[in-house]
Amino acid sequence: MLITTEEIFEEFEDLDPRDQSQYLLELGYDLPRFSADQQKAEDLVQGCQSQVWLTAVASDDSTDPVISIKADSDAEIVRGLITILLASYDGMKASEILQFSIVDVFNRLKLKQYISPQRHNGLQGMVDRIREISAMYCNAQTSPVAPASNCNIAVKAKRPPVLQQSFDVQKIRSQFPVLNQILEDGQTPVYLDSGASAQKPQLVIDKEREVEEQYFANAYRGKYSFGARIDEELEASRKKIAEFIGSATSEQICFTGGTTMTLNMVAFGWGRRHLKPGDEILITEMEHHANFVPWQQLASQTGATLRFMPLTPDGRIDLEQLETVLSNKTKIVAVTGMSNVLGTMTPIAELSKRAHDVGAIIVVDGAQSVPHIATDVVADDIDFLVFSGHKVYGPTGVGVLYGKAERLEETDPILFGGHMISEVSKDHSSWAKAPAKFEAGTLPIVQAIALGAAIDWINEVGIDAIHQHEQQLLKAATEQLNQISGMKIFGPSIEHKGAIISFRIDRIHPEDLAAMLDRKAVLTRHGHHCTMPLHTLLGVTATTRASFAAYNTLQDVQSLVDGINFARDVLKLS
Ligand code: PMP
Repeated sequence: MLITTEEIFEEFEDLDPRDQSQYLLELGYDLPRFSADQQKAEDLVQGCQSQVWLTAVASDDSTDPVISIKADSDAEIVRGLITILLASYDGMKASEILQFSIVDVFNRLKLKQYISPQRHNGLQGMVDRIREISAMYCNAQTSPVAPASNCNIAVKAKRPPVLQQSFDVQKIRSQFPVLNQILEDGQTPVYLDSGASAQKPQLVIDKEREVEEQYFANAYRGKYSFGARIDEELEASRKKIAEFIGSATSEQICFTGGTTMTLNMVAFGWGRRHLKPGDEILITEMEHHANFVPWQQLASQTGATLRFMPLTPDGRIDLEQLETVLSNKTKIVAVTGMSNVLGTMTPIAELSKRAHDVGAIIVVDGAQSVPHIATDVVADDIDFLVFSGHKVYGPTGVGVLYGKAERLEETDPILFGGHMISEVSKDHSSWAKAPAKFEAGTLPIVQAIALGAAIDWINEVGIDAIHQHEQQLLKAATEQLNQISGMKIFGPSIEHKGAIISFRIDRIHPEDLAAMLDRKAVLTRHGHHCTMPLHTLLGVTATTRASFAAYNTLQDVQSLVDGINFARDVLKLS
């Protein structure tokens, strides 16, 4: 190694601010340059203003090899930054790189003062790449294909198959304009609230604009060209959604306003017709209020009883104890596919079988699960599935109701008016068939069409690849957060959960923490997350929640940890 970080720190501290930026430049002078052959397109780091080539080589074929990094750039100042990175990571194993806080090095050198925000993004891009290669290498140890020794991990063939073919987080990130902006204070946002709403890729924004600018008209009404185009686009979107969740037909997909509205439609459209006093509705204490309050209301209106599936102490449904509440009195089992607080993934296929065995239907609140794991309504034998557009990288104001054909048939509409009728006379009206029966009035047309574009986007990246990527983030975040003193993460171990972490830290109120994280542009959510009964069960009034999506990086995880350490410093808890 040419120079060590300690030597860099020493030199740097001795210099006055004017000379420090010159020193940064000079640091790059001794860095070996890549030959033309070494400047390979596949090794280019994305997000840099200048060209940066970066490769990482495993020193041996052990389970946690030392990673040797080489990099070069066509910009001298970047070569200086590369020297700092190489010095920082010199001799580290893959797992050590993942645990190492490079931000501490940057902070000590006050790098933000000397380089532009764009350059800082580029630097972050390099760090992300190094961390991803290290993570993939660690991950590759558990994959069935053992990596060869002395392999260049940056080369595609050495990556785990799914990530290799379809997952380039920097490329994905570059498609989300909101994530690539520089905020007024010079920081870039670290968005960790996708559980509330995901950000939208350019493709979705463009689709909304295309409809508005080129052929907007009301749907299923006008026979002129715009109207016909809108109808076509809506039906194309419906078909994409059907295929995405494994529905046999498009007619079983109804556009709604979102998960909350749709759960109300199912509770009052199906439930009010089928429930009588003495019947039981089974939910869990971890449900979002949207899958809780409608059932509570339905129970009080019909004389049915609301009961709760037992949970294990770590927040999973206790299948062994299910018989204590599931019986032939149960008419509806309504459950989240993934908890919006604990991240718990529920065993839908098993629950669906057990519900059907006692003659009940199963309603799945897919608001959190559909964006993160492949959904198959037929394989899981789901009666009703609902989800929201804004959590699957689509627009707000649109949601989806899926129902088995016979269930939709036996569901009453709860909204009445235009489009949903078959015939109307002075004393009687009859209903159209689904989906029109559940689409009274004017649809959120632009949003419903753009939701199809969001599904295209997910399909292009691959839902399984997204899941795999998010699980890596979840693993890294869980490991790193657990090292923080006073940390309590709620929910089961990562094999049983998706990419949501809710936690509390001793002596820091979640609201204070969220505000301090915001100062570092780390955007998290705090509060009860619309799950008051769950928070009562957990014995707390509020938690901090970080939730991940396809565009998040290991650097985002690091920023969360750094932000928490910053908050601990501010509150003098360190
Ligand atoms: N269920 C779950 C599990 C959720 O996370 C949410 C949104 N936080 C909802 C339902 C409600 O969704 P919406 O606000 O889109 O109606």
